Amino acid sequence: MRTIGHFIAGNHVPGSAAAFTEVFNPATGEITARVALAGGAEIDAAVASAVAAQPIWAATNPQRRARVFFNYVALLNREMHALAELLSFEHGKTIEDARGDILRGLEVAEFVAGVPHLLKGEFTEGAGPGIDMYSMRQPLGVGAGITPFNFPAMIPLWMFAPAIAAGNAFILKPSERAPSVPLRLAELLLEAGLPPGVLNVVNGGKAAVDAVLAHPDIAAVSFVGSTPIARYVYAQAAAGGKRVQAFGGAKNHMIVMPDADMDKAADALMGAGYGSAGERCMAVSVAVPVGRDTGDRLVAALKPRIEALRVGPASDPASEMGPLVTREAQQRVLRYIESGIAQGAELAVDGRGFRLQGYEHGFFVGPTLFDHVTEEMDIYREEIFGPVLSVVRADNYEQALGLPMRHAYGNGVAIFTRDGDTARDFASRINIGMVGINVPVPVPLAYHSFGGWKASSFGDLNQHGTDSIRFWTRTKTVTARWPSGIRNGAQYQMPTMA
Ligand code: NAD
Repeated sequence: MRTIGHFIAGNHVPGSAAAFTEVFNPATGEITARVALAGGAEIDAAVASAVAAQPIWAATNPQRRARVFFNYVALLNREMHALAELLSFEHGKTIEDARGDILRGLEVAEFVAGVPHLLKGEFTEGAGPGIDMYSMRQPLGVGAGITPFNFPAMIPLWMFAPAIAAGNAFILKPSERAPSVPLRLAELLLEAGLPPGVLNVVNGGKAAVDAVLAHPDIAAVSFVGSTPIARYVYAQAAAGGKRVQAFGGAKNHMIVMPDADMDKAADALMGAGYGSAGERCMAVSVAVPVGRDTGDRLVAALKPRIEALRVGPASDPASEMGPLVTREAQQRVLRYIESGIAQGAELAVDGRGFRLQGYEHGFFVGPTLFDHVTEEMDIYREEIFGPVLSVVRADNYEQALGLPMRHAYGNGVAIFTRDGDTARDFASRINIGMVGINVPVPVPLAYHSFGGWKASSFGDLNQHGTDSIRFWTRTKTVTARWPSGIRNGAQYQMPTMA
């Protein structure tokens, strides 16, 4: 069986760990490979190679560093189809969706190709007599990224591209469920001109994460995954004095106002609810129609669309939705459907019985719709991370607004309306990090920043955009006096420029 190892100092290495976990083809349920689970030894080796490579890389001028990313973007475009196939083979998402995963990461590589501009500091001439003041952004040293299974290309790229462009070396610990694409991304960055050791990929699970969190030479950690692990990573990394940002789970609502175009709203919900089998942190899992008539029309518009949704393996170009990533994920989603029924939600479309000839052992769950879901139910309170959409009916706008406002998560939210006043009020008052107005999945583009609020994010700077440059650098401010003729004598009071 194929064994997937690590990428350290520019080489593929098997590592010394005796522990492995299986990698599946989610469409068939077959084991396709096993991946080595690193412990402290592999993390130590990766950090040593990063520490050795980082000073030379940081001393490489930003324009040259940028050129590596220009080359990288070209290589990612060249390899797009092969990467998409590799990605969907381990993750299960459709090829088209996998291309989107890669493209959204590639766009951050494009963004950081502007790093000479992004790293420019500030300068004040004549802050006092003969005094100039300037600030510069310097890399932190070695950074680390810990990523989830659901975007095997995009999220690693969101982390290592800005970190490396800013002059850091990097340790990536990808998800053990989809390990092949991150390794390929690292190989390609070397082909683009990155010196060996600047980007290392170490596969593993909790032991590898704990070794990252405990390592004294890792200055900063970026994490994306579920909220319990995000909280843990945030607390551990901060206690160790590291800079840390940790992004967690989500429960994204889409409010449908009575004046919304119902066909557009229903189409939007189909893609946002069932695209990638609901395994997106920006998936919409709660639809909130305002008014009984809106609710009836929405459910009536959704049902035939859901029944017509083509579920199948990524290898079939007609598939619109693939399987879940693992058997455990499939079983967890099926348990949530049972719990929704037990707690009194109305099962409008039942995905439990889904079967596909030739793929009976795949991790599929059919698209599922619950109506009349209430705030107390587990299917509303918790993140399901599967193709299950809940309709929570609201009587009026204020009631609808209150639902996402009170929810523990605060990643994304959307409103569908033709009324500018309502949309503006909503965007202003909602306590959620990313807002869509007639846009169901409002993932900001690379030059803006991505991040949720409340239990969806711990730490204070977002991913990509200028926030990412701030996260992966620290500011140094220099006050310089060239007195040429000015004589002040000794001064014992607090220096001011007054
Ligand atoms: P996960 O939390 O299980 O795993 C994420 C990472 O943490 C992986 O690299 C994994 O190896 C590691 N890990 C797992 N258990 C650990 C433990 N006990 N101790 C230390 N490390 C551990 O998440 P997942 O299932 O891979 O991804 C899905 C989750 O990620 C969902 O909750 C989803 O909402 C969230 N997510 C959030 C965002 C965002 O930007 N907010 C984006 C994508 C996914």
